[in-house]
Amino acid sequence: MISAKLEQAINKQINAELYSAYLYLSMSAYYESIDLPGFANWMKVQFEEEQFHALKFFTYLADRGGRIKLEAIDKPVFEWKDSLDVFKETLTHEQHVTSLLNALADVADEEKDRPTQNLLKWFLDEQVEEEASAEKIIKQLKMIDGKGQGLLMLDRELATRVFVPPTTA
Ligand code: MG
Repeated sequence: MISAKLEQAINKQINAELYSAYLYLSMSAYYESIDLPGFANWMKVQFEEEQFHALKFFTYLADRGGRIKLEAIDKPVFEWKDSLDVFKETLTHEQHVTSLLNALADVADEEKDRPTQNLLKWFLDEQVEEEASAEKIIKQLKMIDGKGQGLLMLDRELATRVFVPPTTA
């Protein structure tokens, strides 16, 4: 059985992961509207990843005998200036998620809850990748000045991304 404090904190994180999914789906919609299907695809994969994260916490909390309580998901923004603006927000958002996971890990430490500490190790490792991939695309967008042929080439590359559910952890 999980402590009430951790139960509440994990419920909050489920909501945060679902908000992340919703934000990326909104970014995907933005890219559809400016005819960059590869970027739209990349964001759709982000959406699927975040849903996977929410479900991972969901299943974990159920397995630990906690009660899952779903809350309202905030409305995401839907307009951006350009691609660089979108990816800067992606990076800022992922940095925020990392801080939420660190705070959750602090609660798990206080509660001396080893299984939750293990679970969060997986999530924190995942965040390193999330931040790195946003940073990489920001650098590439800057290289090509966010437009022209370079942008179309990057769009084609991002079109190849597919969602692969992690099998480990
Ligand atoms: Mg996530």
